[in-house]
Amino acid sequence: MAGPKASGLDLGRIVSEVHDELATRIGEGTVADYIPELARVDPRQFGIALVTPEGEVAAAGDADRPFSIQSISKVFLLTLALGRVGESLWTRVGREPSGSPFNSIVQLEHEAGRPRNPFINAGAIVVTDVAMAGHSPREAIGEILRFMRYLADDDDIAIDRAVAASELDTGARNQALGWFMRSFGRLDHEVEKVLGVYFHHCAIAMSCRQMARAGLFLAASGRDPLRGHSVVRPARARRINALMLTCGLYDASGDFAYRVGLPAKSGVGGGILAVAPGQASICVWAPGLDAFGNSRLGGLTLEALARRTGWSVFG
Ligand code: GLU
Repeated sequence: MAGPKASGLDLGRIVSEVHDELATRIGEGTVADYIPELARVDPRQFGIALVTPEGEVAAAGDADRPFSIQSISKVFLLTLALGRVGESLWTRVGREPSGSPFNSIVQLEHEAGRPRNPFINAGAIVVTDVAMAGHSPREAIGEILRFMRYLADDDDIAIDRAVAASELDTGARNQALGWFMRSFGRLDHEVEKVLGVYFHHCAIAMSCRQMARAGLFLAASGRDPLRGHSVVRPARARRINALMLTCGLYDASGDFAYRVGLPAKSGVGGGILAVAPGQASICVWAPGLDAFGNSRLGGLTLEALARRTGWSVFG
């Protein structure tokens, strides 16, 4: 769609101009190399897509190329787990920024194996354990994949088995987190099974366009506005957004809130999902990461987009 919409913004033009401006910096950052399959990804890729609650879509660059969503899956897993057990989830995991790297183990000992928040690896492993209740690992993986396909309104979304296998082979740190939490009695299922599910949801492959569509309910008070379905209650969407804002970019969450001002969740595949409530769901992808494990170009792109549109949760 072209031309100014209800917002008065010509989003198609803004997205393509922001893309072109930042494309001069394509390739910056370092691809995640601790997962061998991700180390092989060409860093010279860059896509952006956004979807508005009215159904307007704006996209540029590699917006249709699937990438490994990695930790962005944690937002959707949290949504599923909250749907499953409600607010009692918070007896298992906290809601505070960690100020520590995504795969850190240090706080866990002081805090008796209860992870700080659902978006660091330890927290997401606990949330995975909760979401597995009553399911075999295979069923749990199937449920997560179905949820992503439903939200993105696209049945072609799949798990990249090579990425999942690569993480299983090399996931010593996540194994350590799992066993450490298990030692505090914090996991209901066997560590191997929980990690198997965790690695598979991190290995879902989606394009920017699919991810922006999947996140639309967070920009639309918990509803899928294009199908008229309720995904979660408005209060829950607000709370998931609050967690994304405070914890979504690991120990760079404060800096990102300052620079961009939107709830977001990054993944080490180089994607970032950002939510402008009432305005748009946005996904950017560029595989080169900064020192915190967040897409370098992705952060700069969202900063430029927020500046151009005036979108911010801070007024
Ligand atoms: N699967 C990755 C890991 O567990 C996710 C990390 C991320 O995207 O931040 O290390």
